[in-house]
Amino acid sequence: MSKPKSDKAILVIGGGIAGMTAAVEAAEVGYKVVLVEKEPFLGGRVVRMNQYFPKLCPPTCGMEINYRRIRQNPLISVYTLTEVRQVSGSPGDYTVTLQVNPRYVTGKVDLDESAAEALTSQRVDAFNAGMGKTKALYRPHPMAFPSKMVLDRKALSEDDKAKLAASVPDGAIDFDMQPQTVELKAAAIIVATGWAPYDAGKVENLGFGKCKNVITNIMMERLASEAGPTAGKIQRPGDGKEPANVAFVQCAGSRDENHLQYCSGVCCMASMKQARYVREKLPEAKVTIFYIDIRPTGRHEDFYYELLGDEKIRFVKGKVAKITEADGGALKLDVEDSVTGTKIGEAFDLVVLATGMVPSLATEKLPLDLPQDDYGFVVGGEDKGIFAAGVARHPIEVTRTVKEGTAAALKAIQYITQS
Ligand code: SF4
Repeated sequence: MSKPKSDKAILVIGGGIAGMTAAVEAAEVGYKVVLVEKEPFLGGRVVRMNQYFPKLCPPTCGMEINYRRIRQNPLISVYTLTEVRQVSGSPGDYTVTLQVNPRYVTGKVDLDESAAEALTSQRVDAFNAGMGKTKALYRPHPMAFPSKMVLDRKALSEDDKAKLAASVPDGAIDFDMQPQTVELKAAAIIVATGWAPYDAGKVENLGFGKCKNVITNIMMERLASEAGPTAGKIQRPGDGKEPANVAFVQCAGSRDENHLQYCSGVCCMASMKQARYVREKLPEAKVTIFYIDIRPTGRHEDFYYELLGDEKIRFVKGKVAKITEADGGALKLDVEDSVTGTKIGEAFDLVVLATGMVPSLATEKLPLDLPQDDYGFVVGGEDKGIFAAGVARHPIEVTRTVKEGTAAALKAIQYITQS
């Protein structure tokens, strides 16, 4: 191993695509990096997608390369299931306290899904957007990195605890594992904390949580994924039927003074991508996209024109005022085509709400003196050696997020070398 260029480490908070990029870019030019992620795996939001722009490849194609770069680089220390509890000291010389939460699976002995077969305890499958359940001992998803099982201790019944204790090899699970505290020094900090989808349930008029066949764009990604709850089949949650008539509702809670006031900039492209999932998987299905404005980004404009030429995809300019469910799960949309002035009378089998992005820091605060705007996006900190990247700063798509991860790594290195 070659000598690091500095004794001072860069702390990267958030193990999604921005944080992973920042970590590998900084480490590959010789800087020590501590990469911290609160979930049991790296990959953030991108790893939950079915396909992502610009190439519309599955997350495996980009993620595997990043996993390999991390795995092979001894300058990167990865902490999953970990939260930053305290940051003290001064810019260029921070002392950071981490809390590493228990995985319960020790990693001393290999465990796979067969260890969970006899269990009846279950937990909601958060990775699949709440669609379905996993066993209490689970692998978060098939390409999880690190590729380790996790035990949801709260979900595990006493009976199942006894079954596991009797069946797994000695030392494989520590049922009494406690949170650990780790203290380390960092000269610069990269904040790559990403985003969460806006809670569609708050947009009461659009029926999410009341109408079984109203789903979010996040759920659609998982439905379309081969690794998702339906093995890639697009089905109505209400009855498992293939939808013949699918509606996408744009700006669901976005650009709305009662919800998110800003445009997330990505959900128009996400719906167009998902319209293509529908057309590829269900060639006879019709798609209608209800929009206020269509905002394709940069060179993706061509993608929009391609969809305009598809006779089974219709774009209707009109704001959906209300969604209600009739007998049989059919969905009625209260919406008028604002170009022709006509009411849309038909019923839809499935409605997909294009919800926007909320910065994670809007609700989950870090112990850092970090300037944020009214929405929770980071708007400063660089004078203190703290550099935000990706959706922690503003709503952007994956390609730009990767570039911002690289830029944050470079800024952190410059800060260390100049301080
Ligand atoms: Fe609305 Fe499209 Fe902006 Fe998303 S990207 S908030 S759907 S205009």
